[in-house]
Amino acid sequence: MSETVPVAEAALGYVCAISPYVTGKPIDAVAREFGLTDIIKLASNENPLGASPKAQAALREPSALNIYPDGGGFALKQAIAHRFAVSMESIVLGNGSNDLLELAARAYLAPGRNAVFSAYAFAVYALATQAVGAEAKVVPALPPDHPSMPYGADLSAMRAAIDDQTRVVFLANPNNPTGTWVDAAALESFIAAIPSRVLIVLDEAYSEYVPPDWYADGRFPDGLALAKRYPNVLLTRTFSKIYGLAALRVGFGLAHPAVAAILERVRQPFNVNTLAQQAAVAAIDDLSFLDASRAANEAGLQQLQAACAARGWPVIPSRANFLTVGLGVPAGRVFDALLREGVIIRPLGGQQDTGGLSCHIRITVGTAEQNERVMAALDRVLPALRAAA
Ligand SMILES: *Cc1c(COP(=O)(O)O)cnc(C)c1O
Repeated sequence: MSETVPVAEAALGYVCAISPYVTGKPIDAVAREFGLTDIIKLASNENPLGASPKAQAALREPSALNIYPDGGGFALKQAIAHRFAVSMESIVLGNGSNDLLELAARAYLAPGRNAVFSAYAFAVYALATQAVGAEAKVVPALPPDHPSMPYGADLSAMRAAIDDQTRVVFLANPNNPTGTWVDAAALESFIAAIPSRVLIVLDEAYSEYVPPDWYADGRFPDGLALAKRYPNVLLTRTFSKIYGLAALRVGFGLAHPAVAAILERVRQPFNVNTLAQQAAVAAIDDLSFLDASRAANEAGLQQLQAACAARGWPVIPSRANFLTVGLGVPAGRVFDALLREGVIIRPLGGQQDTGGLSCHIRITVGTAEQNERVMAALDRVLPALRAAA
């Protein structure tokens, strides 16, 4: 399109400058483009076991569709409050936890202010920051040859990057797209050292995948306890990942009630739809589904890690439901070749990425069979790609 459209050009400069989020390629799109029928998608960190059966059962009797949702989300907030021993006033519901990231940006950021986050952080942090005209201070990550956490968040560098204009720090634990994490002692001293006027968004989209004993022995921080102790911590959680409800778009934030009340001021009145609330209420106490999903993920993660190790492919340490692996050829080419095999993965190195992961792909942990299939497909496509590189 070469035609100039004045009204498009009149949009805010910092909005025009955004490169839109690229979502995982849908199965239907691959079916259309390649004429394939047997396709697996390991691209968006969805739960291969499906949705919580309790949520599915709840949706068999859907609430009235002609009535607006409960804008206050009473039943869901009550269920969250009960499960996590928090007050209902400390809960903010979101249209996915992505919504909470946007609410935090809208309430705290503007031109002249900045947000601090690590390189290789979740792409939405940059988007939410840019959308309100604030500066994104992207802090270099730990080096690729770091002994324990290659590509992980460098907390001391992040601390040092905070200045008088910083209002938000985004940190995902575990992080997507790397799978890396920060341990309990490091996170707590990081939070304690940050000025109390800076909101720390602690994004725990994958925390349910961390084995319980990692919490018990302090290898992994208890974000909930931190959110209860520090008024400047906003903990975000989602029903999209381990609960298997990505299609419904529901997540929540836990914060000091004063912070929650701020976010409520910029929240759309009906941001979480009725069916999403209904399913989330049913899913939140489906602990057997969570346990089964966590166990299946642990087995699948080990399966993928072992398969990569056997091939000599370097992986980034992961405590989530995906594994990021370096293949030595541009990720986009691997992605394209795998599509022809009916396998959708996530190529890294695009858009918001600083470029250091341009030869890495992110594989969502699937079922044992799916994991085998993605490795077999990689074995088929890689020799030609490497020869051409
Ligand atoms: C998937 C993901 C989210 C949120 O997803 P929603 O579906 O919007 O809840 C948030 N943060 C990270 C790091 C994620 O990977």
